[in-house]
Amino acid sequence: MKKSLKTKSHSDSQRNRRPQRRSQVRSRCYFDDKGLEPSQVGEDILVRFLTRRGKIRSKERSGLCAYHQRALARAIKRGRNLGTIPYRIVA
Ligand SMILES: [Zn+2]
Repeated sequence: MKKSLKTKSHSDSQRNRRPQRRSQVRSRCYFDDKGLEPSQVGEDILVRFLTRRGKIRSKERSGLCAYHQRALARAIKRGRNLGTIPYRIVA
């Protein structure tokens, strides 16, 4: 009795998923690049990290490291409280 060791053949190219296209150069954290902290820059820099509607950009969109993403959120919220950064932008 010969038992054929049947391995599950991976039918290749059956599911030919193309890998998602990502940017070749991983953008470094803006604040690490500049050597600044979000609390040190003016609101003209901080508004760059807002969406058109005035929401804070996600880390995927902003490209910041986790530390500076949190610090940025704090700085923006502080700016909103001071009135220098809008809570929302109505189109
Ligand atoms: Zn950073």
